[in-house]
Amino acid sequence: MPKKRIEKIIEQAESRLEILKELGIDEIPRESIDPVFRRKQDALEKLRKEVRGCNKCELAKTRTCVVFGEGDLNAEVMFVGEAPGAEEDLSGRPFVGAAGKLLTDIIERGMKIPRKKVFIGNVVKCRPPMNRDPSPEEVKECKGFVERQIKIIQPRVLIALGKFAAQLLTGSEEPISRIRGKWWEYNGIPVMPTYHPAYLLYNNAGKREVWSDIKQVLNYLAKEKTG
Ligand code: SF4
Repeated sequence: MPKKRIEKIIEQAESRLEILKELGIDEIPRESIDPVFRRKQDALEKLRKEVRGCNKCELAKTRTCVVFGEGDLNAEVMFVGEAPGAEEDLSGRPFVGAAGKLLTDIIERGMKIPRKKVFIGNVVKCRPPMNRDPSPEEVKECKGFVERQIKIIQPRVLIALGKFAAQLLTGSEEPISRIRGKWWEYNGIPVMPTYHPAYLLYNNAGKREVWSDIKQVLNYLAKEKTG
């Protein structure tokens, strides 16, 4: 680019910054200047609208809210759970009940990451009545949404919580006890399957195994950072 053109761009940027300062705006929101972030935001918003209006399976008839998922669009770590429970169905947010509190503890106290810096979603976006397991048909109809979320967010690591997420992201049909604790790959993204936090509410012994799986994720992220 010619030098004169660069000088002109800098001049225009400086004058815009001056105007913003006069308006009392000291900080420019990241999404207004980062085109990759904006693309992700647009794609996720489009997907959110689609999921909110979805009636592809029977769960649409009994849900209160669709639970799309939430978190940082640039998350390094993305958690994928099974399906919303009663509190999630009422609030429209993932992992807000007792199991959610445990997951928040794992993220914030264990991993030392603020919950809002990860992304959390489920394989199935509407609550199965009476907290039953989602049926194979429901998983088949819904799984495309979480697959698209992963494609948009492109996390560095996926953590699959429980059987349904683990089987989807590893392609294995083995029980979670056999799949967990080992590295798998989903479209080039490393996957660590572990137990669902709801399981830990009744199985204290599983906490040690979950922590060992989480430590593998932390070691992987630390190694990646140091090269
Ligand atoms: S569970 Fe998924 S596929 Fe079924 S209605 Fe809800 S969003 Fe649609």
